[in-house]
Amino acid sequence: MAKKIDLDVCVACGACEGTCPVEAISMGDDGYVVDADACIDCGACVDVCPTGAIADE
Ligand code: SF4
Ligand code: SF4
Repeated sequence: MAKKIDLDVCVACGACEGTCPVEAISMGDDGYVVDADACIDCGACVDVCPTGAIADE
């Protein structure tokens, strides 16, 4: 299962993007998004997110 970013909670700090080992997180048109096909569900982004914006899809 891939992770998903709740953009209502995300403050666009960018910490998750730099932490993802497979570069599955990037800035999209409306905010940071997870590429569900690339995500290996390691949980690293969840651990670094300061606002708890990332959860299971
Ligand atoms: S769970 Fe892991 S692989 Fe998936 S987006 Fe987060 S850091 Fe990247
Ligand atoms: S770490 Fe959390 S608050 Fe920061 S950009 Fe990623 S989802 Fe948004």
